Amino acid sequence: MNDVKPLYFDHNATTPVHDKVFRAMRPFLTEKFGNPGSPHHWGLEAREALEEARANVASLINADPEEIFFTSCATESNNMVLFGTLGLSEGRFVTSAVEHPAILEPAKALRRYGLETTLVPVDENGLVDPEEVIKACRRGTKLVSIMLANNEVGAIQPVQRISSMLGPGTFLHSDAAQAVGKIPVDVKELGLDFMTIAGHKLYAPKGVGALYVRKGLSLPPHLYGGGQEYGLKSGTENVAFAVALGAACLLAKDDLEEETRRQRDLGLLFLAELDALGHDYILHAQNAPRLPNTMSIGFRNLPADRIVEGLALADVGVSPGAACHSTDVRISHVLEAMEVPREYALGTIRFSWGRSTTAEDVRELGERLGRVIRGIRPVRG
Ligand code: PLP
Repeated sequence: MNDVKPLYFDHNATTPVHDKVFRAMRPFLTEKFGNPGSPHHWGLEAREALEEARANVASLINADPEEIFFTSCATESNNMVLFGTLGLSEGRFVTSAVEHPAILEPAKALRRYGLETTLVPVDENGLVDPEEVIKACRRGTKLVSIMLANNEVGAIQPVQRISSMLGPGTFLHSDAAQAVGKIPVDVKELGLDFMTIAGHKLYAPKGVGALYVRKGLSLPPHLYGGGQEYGLKSGTENVAFAVALGAACLLAKDDLEEETRRQRDLGLLFLAELDALGHDYILHAQNAPRLPNTMSIGFRNLPADRIVEGLALADVGVSPGAACHSTDVRISHVLEAMEVPREYALGTIRFSWGRSTTAEDVRELGERLGRVIRGIRPVRG
């Protein structure tokens, strides 16, 4: 019998659906199954729930309900902004070198229509310099997109500063998939035109996201059809999942400060555990403002794959920052952009915890990590 408690330290990959969220969405999969476009009580019940969910999402980020559009994921929200604002014509796009592929890949796809993309570099803490972002915005720059928090190292970008410096005529988008629900996010304070939200990073199911579009702006339809989501995204609304995202936003709003503090404390405890291991390591982006639940650690001269495998055997879930392929080792583009020394980049693991993680879990993680690390023979990078 295996009575080892599984330790999930990969919340930036995805979170479990919270009980309260599941309870809120369940009736909309069963008895409250109406189509929000229908004119009878089943339809009206679904419409009311959908609009309440929209208001709940809006209230977490200080938006108005009519500024929120439900999507199926953060990737879709990002694509809608890039394709919608940059269009299929020539233009200029400015973003950072550490964005998620959900920004970098649509930008690459738009190259064939003449889009020119500038990737603004980051410093050793994973941060863009707002001056550099503004400098990159030459004439004809239609869109700037800078993520609010990085998924790998947790660095929080100076988005507000960028918006305060950005001239008129250029839209500002932020991919806040990793930030919403973890830190306070206020679209008005940040001065954003568009912002992306991912449901499954904040205890809603996979398959739902949202896009904030500032009042007065509009995007061309992403899907043509029956005109749902105010004409932006046709297709019968996924009411249950929208309700789930609304409930997840309420949950986050309810105890954001308290949970942020608790998760930061878990991070301090984790660092003490790491120090006790006696193996040389670095905490990436250590001088940047960071997410409370994320620490990306580079273990010197240890291969990340071996650590991930060892931890998996010890029933611990984490993500690697470098991956061995048959002929070479690939370091993530984020660590590359931060110019992390190779001997630390190769041994990088992302640890990300969440609502259900306890101090005892972090101590136990330290124990299991110690056993794994002592069993790996160091390599020379
Ligand atoms: N943007 C960021 C910053 C992310 O971390 C992720 C997922 O890891 C995404 C976008 C894509 O999210 P999804 O796969 O839900 O579309």
